[in-house]
Amino acid sequence: MLAGTVHAAHPERSDRYVQIARKICTRTRVRMPRPLKRLFCRHCGSFLSPAGTRVRLREGVLTTTCLLCGEQMRRPYRSGND
Ligand SMILES: [Zn+2]
Repeated sequence: MLAGTVHAAHPERSDRYVQIARKICTRTRVRMPRPLKRLFCRHCGSFLSPAGTRVRLREGVLTTTCLLCGEQMRRPYRSGND
């Protein structure tokens, strides 16, 4: 995973990669693959690093809070899903 790898090595660069990836996806109308999609905030588009998010698991729903814009993203969680 490119952005993840880059983020680990160069945290300041990953936002740039996110912008590029989003631009490409918008232009080509290719949907982001799901595993890639969940790495970015749906609302502000920033890279969701473990340090930049708060993750809660409750009643089978995984709630990820983006600490940058404060928005939440929910998805059903099943063990063995990832
Ligand atoms: Zn956000």
